[in-house]
Amino acid sequence: MTTEPSKTLENLSVESRRFPPPEEFARDAVAGPELYEQASADRLAFWAAQARERLHWEEDFSETLDWTDPPFAKWYVGGKLNAAYNCVDRHVEAGNGDRVAIHFEGEPGDTRTITYADLQKEVSRAANAFAALGVGEGDRVAVYLPMIPEAIVTMLACARLGAAHSVVFGGFSADALRSRIDDAQATLVVTADGGYRRGSAAALKPAVDGALDGGADSVRSVVVVRRTGQDVEWTEGRDVWWHDVVDTASDEHTPQAFDAENPLFILYTSGTTGKPKGILHTTGGYLTQVAYTHATVFDLRPETDVYWCTADVGWVTGHSYVVYGPLANGATQLVYEGTPDTPHKARWWELAAKYGVTILYTAPTAIRTFMKWGEELVAEHDLSSIRLLGSVGESINPEAWIWYRRVVGHDRTPIVDTWWQTETGAIMISPLPGVTTLRPGSAQKPLPGISAAVVDDEGKEVPHGGGGYLVLTEPWPAMLRTIWGDDQRFKDTYWSRFPGRYFAGDGAKLDDDGDVWLLGRVDDVMNVSGHRLSTTEIESALVSHPAVAEAAVVGAADDTTGQAPVAFVILRGNSASVIGDTDPQEALRDHVAKQIGAIAKPKRVLVVQELPKTRSGKIMRRLLRDVAENRELGDVTTLTDSGVMGLIQTGLAAKG
Ligand code: ATP
Ligand code: MG
Repeated sequence: MTTEPSKTLENLSVESRRFPPPEEFARDAVAGPELYEQASADRLAFWAAQARERLHWEEDFSETLDWTDPPFAKWYVGGKLNAAYNCVDRHVEAGNGDRVAIHFEGEPGDTRTITYADLQKEVSRAANAFAALGVGEGDRVAVYLPMIPEAIVTMLACARLGAAHSVVFGGFSADALRSRIDDAQATLVVTADGGYRRGSAAALKPAVDGALDGGADSVRSVVVVRRTGQDVEWTEGRDVWWHDVVDTASDEHTPQAFDAENPLFILYTSGTTGKPKGILHTTGGYLTQVAYTHATVFDLRPETDVYWCTADVGWVTGHSYVVYGPLANGATQLVYEGTPDTPHKARWWELAAKYGVTILYTAPTAIRTFMKWGEELVAEHDLSSIRLLGSVGESINPEAWIWYRRVVGHDRTPIVDTWWQTETGAIMISPLPGVTTLRPGSAQKPLPGISAAVVDDEGKEVPHGGGGYLVLTEPWPAMLRTIWGDDQRFKDTYWSRFPGRYFAGDGAKLDDDGDVWLLGRVDDVMNVSGHRLSTTEIESALVSHPAVAEAAVVGAADDTTGQAPVAFVILRGNSASVIGDTDPQEALRDHVAKQIGAIAKPKRVLVVQELPKTRSGKIMRRLLRDVAENRELGDVTTLTDSGVMGLIQTGLAAKG
């Protein structure tokens, strides 16, 4: 036992597997090694070039970055552009109007094919309709829709008018919706009667009615898309049908150019660690960085690729890598409304084969779910078109990475593990598929143009092999501009822990090559006998056991060690044949001790059926810590399924 508490995170595990880029990627990749050189030679010149090459500016900017009043950044000062024009009209004008923008597949199997020319008309109609309802530059629009094309059209129509959208997950309650409408003072809500989830029509409109009943007074109109055909309550004078106001509007609309710093959207964080924050993004810098990262990280060939990001538009990945990045780049993409298990557990693979998906971007939570369901389901479908895989949302456990590459990626495709946040707006740390030799479980290097470091408690950079806090050391174009309506909270949350640098809230370590390994939230770090252990490494050790599909580890108060790791695990379908008669608890505790050392051995291992997750698929460890320490649960409003916590608590009580 050490007497001195360690100042940084312990470095428990070493991953030795390496995967150099396949030849076809290295040969003519969209992003080659020269990007790193260009960006380090002159970072701001690099970002100025990205903005001018990738976007259409109605008026050029005069200064790349104004950082005279930190942490309040202004990018592309004096520039004017229209985000919707950049995502839609200019592709039509360039002669690509017939290219498919969106292959839409509804959960019940209904489909729509939307070309860029179709999208231009639809966005123009929606913009005309919203303008007729009084929406204009500087307003806010709340969007509460299922994952249907109208969600994308609505976001672009707002951008076209210079109004900021605030998308709220379709699964959130009336209260959650009301607090977000109030915070943003939205004047219009766009919603639907309902959407399809898990084989049935889930109502949405009642939550809007509930949110507006006795509150949310800023709202003047509600536009309702007819998706499921279910009955809805109607408030005359406030509610209008999409098909009455949008379908009948003119399909011509002249976009106006707005200032580069005009607000594009407000989005509330997932709420994994606490009360969500209204993150403000603006136009020019955001659009530059999402277009740049989407093209380079995903090696995008807009003429031939079929890209699929499985994220809901209700979270940031849907904003940056379903709407703005792919559409700014003129990509063809698949949009799927429903859940992966409806009507059967191979739905995703069936869709990937049907549309010939070439690039798949999803979250570790989904990959681990497929590991649990078994790889036979994937093997039934022809996925030979897939050439690149991406991961986002949490650290991907090395074993899940290996499984993803082997089962979905024919043991050949690169995987880009992309670290970023709602606040960063776009990918920050990631391999480049034609350049980087991949290390399973590591997001590896800041992208060209991005500056990051891992620092200790005093803010000193840690040496290779050390662990600490991830910080961003220079402003970046897609950075959040503030927390909506709360500049002080913006400064306190992100810029006060290490003055002059952005503190992301995540722990990280550097390996001997200087690659970055994300170690989970610093709020989740546990202190065991003076050792500071990260959740990610212990979870990855558990997932490396062949019986385990998914694991969550928390530090629970302990009389002798201060805190002790407590693990919650979900077993794979075939676990019985792997563990046999041994007690899984003992087998898994020993496995962790063997993999990374006795200090990390969980005090308890609890086998559960489900883990509490946010709507974006992240494990809410703070709730598990509440359970492990027998406390009342904290804020559960962003939980996908509020029943899960009850099940876990009763399961624990039964085990004593
Ligand atoms: P809140 O800030 O309200 O607690 P949240 O942080 O979960 O919610 P997001 O902005 O959606 O909301 O998530 C960003 C976080 O997700 C990052 O800070 C990091 O913890 C995690 N993350 C995202 N991508 C990766 C990745 N590739 N590897 C490791 N962690 C990741
Ligand atoms: Mg966060």
